[in-house]
Amino acid sequence: PESTELVERSLEVISDEEKRLNAFITVKNEIEKGIPIGIKDNINVKGMKTTCASKILEGYVAPYDATVIKKLRVCGYAFVGKTNLDEFAMGASTEYSAFGPTRNPHDVERVAGGSSGGSAAAVASGEVIAALGSDTGGSIRQPAAFCGVVGFKPTYGLVSRYGLVAFASSLDQIGPITKTVEDSAILMNIIAGKDENDATTVDRNIDFTQFVGKQIPKMKIAVAKQSFGEGVEEGIKNRVNEFVQELSRHGHDVDVVDIDEIKYSVATYYIIAPSEVSSNLSRFDGVKYGLRISSDSLREMYEKTRGLGFGEEVRRRILIGTFNLSAAYYDAYFEKAQKVRRVIANKLYSVFEKYDFIVTPTSPVVAFKVKSVNDPLVYYMMDIFTIPANLAGIPAISIPYGKSENLPVGIQIMGPRFSDAKLLGFADWVE
Ligand code: GLN
Repeated sequence: PESTELVERSLEVISDEEKRLNAFITVKNEIEKGIPIGIKDNINVKGMKTTCASKILEGYVAPYDATVIKKLRVCGYAFVGKTNLDEFAMGASTEYSAFGPTRNPHDVERVAGGSSGGSAAAVASGEVIAALGSDTGGSIRQPAAFCGVVGFKPTYGLVSRYGLVAFASSLDQIGPITKTVEDSAILMNIIAGKDENDATTVDRNIDFTQFVGKQIPKMKIAVAKQSFGEGVEEGIKNRVNEFVQELSRHGHDVDVVDIDEIKYSVATYYIIAPSEVSSNLSRFDGVKYGLRISSDSLREMYEKTRGLGFGEEVRRRILIGTFNLSAAYYDAYFEKAQKVRRVIANKLYSVFEKYDFIVTPTSPVVAFKVKSVNDPLVYYMMDIFTIPANLAGIPAISIPYGKSENLPVGIQIMGPRFSDAKLLGFADWVE
């Protein structure tokens, strides 16, 4: 864009909305040309602070652009701000931010979801046209569902993680949060691609918009039986039911399929993710980045810096992960979890031998009240439907589908690896 109009408008809405939402940690109050986009504050934008919503990165300014940022810059995007998140993306509500919770634009007494809650709230409220999030176990899709917008987690390996602060590297993937499916596809065309700085990226030339706006042939859809199971709110079950009926009415073949292995996904993820955390977060030692609490001995400096710099949830995960990886327990926990991860992934792959897509709700619950969920296990259980896609590396999208208790409901659609373009086309048709 040749004009500054979009950025000016975005900065206006931000200055109105931030008082109630707290979707941003940093706002760049600079009028520039471009399409205003919000960037989750665990992705490096050169010259701006990267906080990861943690005290431990105090004072850290990114010395380089993440690969996704470099690509967006070339295409004329303006990085108006860095959005709020759960510290280091560990959470599902943006309550675990050192900068205070982000509020849900539909009801400010409720959370925006997480960990990319700032990105979702910023898009839902019109502060920005689009945002980037990161998704390790649902952090793009679940806040998108809570805020009534679209969130897309690509196939693992399509988008470079270079410049994304690592949480659990085998699960992390950057993706778009937008108002429409088409916008997500457009952003995917920009941010995806092989990158020599991320060895897990793959060389595939995909046009993510190729099926958007097109007539969709009849599909075979598996609705996971678990969508109607225990712990799923009635209002959400009803929306899934309506969705299924709508698909059938349009001639798609829909079966309810029992994907029992879903029940192991939370336990598996909460072994693997913290284990990778304990390793990835060892770099925050008070020496290389941000905060340092000076002390007489090196050991004490580490302890104080890490003890005060990391918040409660991050410390919990580092401890769990360190335990899992210790010599005495490695086989019992980490190695076992890796095997179960394979079982879950294989089960999903086998469903895709018969079906094009798998449907579940994105979250078993609607946006909950701030500070209302205090038990970590209850909190973790809410990730049940989003985690399987990360464990299997498959693409998954959350699209808004009606309301329950006056709050947005998200439907999740998952596809086989590298079916991203087809999945976006189908989601666009549904939308
Ligand atoms: N809620 C999950 C967790 O707390 C997922 C977070 C994410 O995808 N970054 O780990």
